[in-house]
Amino acid sequence: MRDKILLIEDSVALSILLKTRLADETNAEIFHCETMSQTADLLKRHKFTLALTGLTVPDAPNGEILNLLEKRKVPTIVFTATVDEQARQHYAEKKIIDYIVKDGRRTVDTVVKTVDRILANRQFSILIVDDAKAARSSLKEILTRQNFTVQEAYSGAQALDILASNPSIQLVITDYYMPDMDGYELTRLIRAGRSSEELRIIGVSSSTDRMLSAHFLKAGASDFIYRPFVPEELQCRIDNNVETLKQLMRLRELAEKDHLSGLPNRRSFFDHATGLLENLKVTGARGAVAIVDIDHFKQINDTFGHSAGDKALKMLANLLSDFCSKGEHLAARIGGEEFAIFLKGLDGQQAHAFCESLRQEVAANAESLVGSEIPLTISVGVVEVEKGGSLDQQLTAADQLLYIAKANGRNCVYSDVMARRELSRLDQMS
Ligand code: GH3
Ligand code: MG
Ligand code: MG
Repeated sequence: MRDKILLIEDSVALSILLKTRLADETNAEIFHCETMSQTADLLKRHKFTLALTGLTVPDAPNGEILNLLEKRKVPTIVFTATVDEQARQHYAEKKIIDYIVKDGRRTVDTVVKTVDRILANRQFSILIVDDAKAARSSLKEILTRQNFTVQEAYSGAQALDILASNPSIQLVITDYYMPDMDGYELTRLIRAGRSSEELRIIGVSSSTDRMLSAHFLKAGASDFIYRPFVPEELQCRIDNNVETLKQLMRLRELAEKDHLSGLPNRRSFFDHATGLLENLKVTGARGAVAIVDIDHFKQINDTFGHSAGDKALKMLANLLSDFCSKGEHLAARIGGEEFAIFLKGLDGQQAHAFCESLRQEVAANAESLVGSEIPLTISVGVVEVEKGGSLDQQLTAADQLLYIAKANGRNCVYSDVMARRELSRLDQMS
């Protein structure tokens, strides 16, 4: 369901700017009104993810709008001309998400960025670890208001259990003193399995010992915050950690993905397939490796142009993804017009059948894939995984079979199953 955002603002210029930018840059549905009575009316008819409001509106000059939004539990961002200590206190009491100081042209940018952040927070899972229920609850309240998805653990052991069964948790906020294990130990145990590139850890404590933060950081925590929290500090530190993690994920994606096709690249294929191969050795399950190569691709480029070639690569990559998604097979672009597939759970015969139906699909749909006049076909070499062999050895075997498929006239699959059949035929003849 689309998010709904309520914008309460009586300045026409600011309203138009905000409405347009928010509609363009978030996926949310934007509702605009100017007064408290209109707000009350809209609140009866819609459930809003967020409200954006000035402190005063024409029919409520003393900040009454915040009471209304608080009563209706709508997470609220306030624009304000100035912030003094009294106003800060007031906002903290009203439990608003954030306040934005009106600052000329930058205001709109800041509002849009803040809204984006709040909407994105829902995708972000945080685990609070604290033996004191009251401490957990108050932190949970702050984080839930920021739209984060929050889970709680009352001990280090429970935290480890929850983390083991919830790999999507990306931030742990842990207390220092807990009866079963302290925050340092918990941090070290978490770090044994998950690096700071995939999971952030923030230590907290109400102790006055200034060494706590140093010890936490040395144990592997990403950050530390002393209690009682200064709400702005807590928020900034959490946002910084979330942002760091997002940037690291973006970098990892850039490093692992092939730019043109969107598939994993050669390096990523080697990393992941090596792990899959190790798994097969442990579980005894079967698997196969295939190399898919476009036929006469150079000619396609030469005849129809490089961009038609690119289009063919993208289309084939999409088809490969679709074909592989059901069996959770791993497909990657490992060279110019060469793709590799790690086929999970298939024996040689099944892998051959899989590749043959892929080949037929490409040949039958070349027209709709890349355009009527382009003759797109593929050749495939496929081999059942030899237990004990390295990934390199399996790929070399698949590559040799691909070479035979090319020699056999292209637009065909050649597998170890076929090779064995042919060998035994030759043996019988001799
Ligand atoms: P074969 O049937 O024997 O595989 O012949 P082929 O022409 O497909 O093989 P060859 O290895 O001779 O040529 C591969 C071509 O792929 C050459 C190269 O220009 C082209 N190529 C590699 N990467 C890209 C790319 O990203 N985009 C496009 N358009 N072409 C690419
Ligand atoms: Mg080729
Ligand atoms: Mg090639």
